[in-house]
Amino acid sequence: MRRIFLWAARNPWLKERLPKFSFMQRAVRRFMPGVTMDSALDAAAPLQAAGIATMYTRLGENLTTLAEADEVADHYIGLLDAIRDRGLDGEVSVKPTQLGLDHDEDATLAHLVRIAEHAATTDSYLWIDMEGSAYVEATIRLYERLRAVQPRTGICLQAYLKRTAGDVARLMPLDPAIRLVKGAYDEPAAIAYRDKRRVDSNFVGVAVRFLLEGRDRPIRLGLGTHDVDLIEQISEQVASAGVGLDAFEVEMLFGIRTSEQYRLAKAGYRVSTLIAYGEHWYPWYMRRLAERPANVTFAIRSLLP
Ligand SMILES: Cc1cc2nc3c(=O)[nH]c(=O)nc-3n(C[C@H](O)[C@H](O)[C@H](O)COP(=O)(O)OP(=O)(O)OC[C@H]3O[C@@H](n4cnc5c(N)ncnc54)[C@H](O)[C@@H]3O)c2cc1C
Repeated sequence: MRRIFLWAARNPWLKERLPKFSFMQRAVRRFMPGVTMDSALDAAAPLQAAGIATMYTRLGENLTTLAEADEVADHYIGLLDAIRDRGLDGEVSVKPTQLGLDHDEDATLAHLVRIAEHAATTDSYLWIDMEGSAYVEATIRLYERLRAVQPRTGICLQAYLKRTAGDVARLMPLDPAIRLVKGAYDEPAAIAYRDKRRVDSNFVGVAVRFLLEGRDRPIRLGLGTHDVDLIEQISEQVASAGVGLDAFEVEMLFGIRTSEQYRLAKAGYRVSTLIAYGEHWYPWYMRRLAERPANVTFAIRSLLP
């Protein structure tokens, strides 16, 4: 099932047609409050009232021409202003291919620097998402160059990739901000763990080592997972070394395990919800279905009026 949905996420014919169906538009609403920036920002109010921070991403990836990246970067600058104007504790997250990585790495960096500098002036923060394995090396290079000029920046790394422990060690001299996730793409066994237990144990191992090595240093760790057992295992393992709950953040997606997000925030964890919006939701939604086939039942129920 997972591989079928990940294939559907990449299929141009389906990408063109499926989003036009109203049942698909109804189904995706479970994971995104709406397509507009305002709908995403409106959704933050109850979260902020419960002490949960927010992150925002405008869905979209793989531009046709580099010129389209200008509009995307301008959009994120406007988003940062809107977050500040509404007094939200909010940060932004972007995909490098949304800013032109398929076309020109230096131009992508220039956009990232511009957005990151604006994030710093609005007291916010810029996160770089991680895409499929073909982009990992270039994305890490971009982060190394970005971090050298703007420290309020972080990068996502994927625990299913065998290289990730080495990438954390490579970034360590930068005192990096890392969002660790399991990984959402279809990667071959030569470079990725395909067994859930191996992915989970790599996730715990990488997170614990990073927290222990980064103790007393200005690192930042986001655990980007809905797997509450893993979050609790990590917090227990580092607690014995004197690393408390304030040393990391729990990051989950809007609409997934919402009651756990509120429960963890109440229990003293620092929690942040990533809210996605925008018209180009199709590949992103297919990846959410791939993660949990039970969501397909929900999509099918949306066929009913
Ligand atoms: C804040 C954030 C940012 C992310 N950024 C990236 C990124 O930049 N690059 C990338 O490759 N991936 C990213 N991901 C996705 C990530 O890689 C996983 O695909 C996704 O989080 C599902 O895995 P899991 O860690 O929640 O664990 P799983 O083992 O898949 O799930 C654990 C439990 O969480 C619940 N759950 C998980 N997914 C769903 C779902 N879709 N619907 C309903 N319940 C669900 C279920 O109860 C499940 O049993 C991000 C995830 C988050 C939370």
